[in-house]
Amino acid sequence: MEKRDYYEILGVPKGSTKDEIRKSYRKIAMQYHPDRNPDNKEAEEKFKEATEAYEVLSDDDKRARYDRYGHTGMKGGQDFHGFNNVNDIFSHFSDIFGGSSIFDDFFGAPTQRGRAGRRRGQGTPGADLKVVLKLTLEEIASGVTKKIKIKKYKKCDACTGSGSEGGAAGKTCPACNGSGEVRTVSRSVFGQFVNIQTCANCNGEGTVVDKPCRKCSGDGRVNDEETIKVNVPAGVSEGSYMTLRGEGNAGLRGGTPGDIILVFQEIPHEYFKREGDDVLFDLFVSFPDIVLGAEYDVPTLTGKARLKIEAGTQPGKLLRMREKGIQHLNKHGAGDQLVRINVIVPKKIDSKEREMLKELQKMPNINPKQNAENGGFFKNFGF
Ligand SMILES: [Zn+2]
Ligand SMILES: [Zn+2]
Repeated sequence: MEKRDYYEILGVPKGSTKDEIRKSYRKIAMQYHPDRNPDNKEAEEKFKEATEAYEVLSDDDKRARYDRYGHTGMKGGQDFHGFNNVNDIFSHFSDIFGGSSIFDDFFGAPTQRGRAGRRRGQGTPGADLKVVLKLTLEEIASGVTKKIKIKKYKKCDACTGSGSEGGAAGKTCPACNGSGEVRTVSRSVFGQFVNIQTCANCNGEGTVVDKPCRKCSGDGRVNDEETIKVNVPAGVSEGSYMTLRGEGNAGLRGGTPGDIILVFQEIPHEYFKREGDDVLFDLFVSFPDIVLGAEYDVPTLTGKARLKIEAGTQPGKLLRMREKGIQHLNKHGAGDQLVRINVIVPKKIDSKEREMLKELQKMPNINPKQNAENGGFFKNFGF
């Protein structure tokens, strides 16, 4: 499905202020909030859609990127926080929802709002899976497609995830009459308290399995493994992550699946050192080459490239090879490769080389006298 424009979703013009965006989001979020629209998939989608739009437009960096590149600048939405459950959204936008939030006022305190009520009839959500993905600098430099084998809970195909033998529907939990909650009333000197707890008999799901599926023992899911293909964009860095929505563990008895959270790890390179999107490379050049000037084929993360070394270049000098570094994440262009010039000092020489070096030693430009008598550098130190 084509993604809708974020401004259109929030019903605000392109140049709106942060405050206008925030107000509009709050209005939409309240209208479509899952607690006000129980079992309404469309409302839930609208709620998530508005939240995603708000997450981008309320963040200066993300908004600028979106304004320039549209949804493609967002990498297809994959590098978002994948908000799968509403509690995530509450904790993420605590500035809007936190404290004595409008939601508490409208829908009651969190305990009454109760996760259990929302889950009724759709099992228990699956857990997220954190997967560490190791990448070489070469892979990071231009992006890579990776296949990863993952052990996870998958939906049981024998009962299509229901947990009931043959896929039959569960029956209403007798302990909570399907509400997923159990209320107990207690009295104390302070008055009467109503205590609401998740029903232990059905784990808050509201339904129980009559005849458990033999394959999954009534869980609606089985331990399995899966190979997934991931397109890692160029320019990711150590510790950054990507969320694959709905690819995590299957839920219990048809509950919403968790996400896969892919955390990137950078394998240190033997020869290249990363500095942001630039890379540093140490090049060793012979003494005649550095004195006379030369051209070298230099390794880069994407193959070799030609580098000109001017006559008389000093050791330690950094030469910049433009755009030969790591591609920027979600942005056009790439960092540079910085080449640090070093001089090869041989540890072993043969007799002919020794002879020639002794000759060179006598040459005034190769071996200038440094003392005061010759106007050399050491006169600064008085000798
Ligand atoms: Zn089953
Ligand atoms: Zn129950």
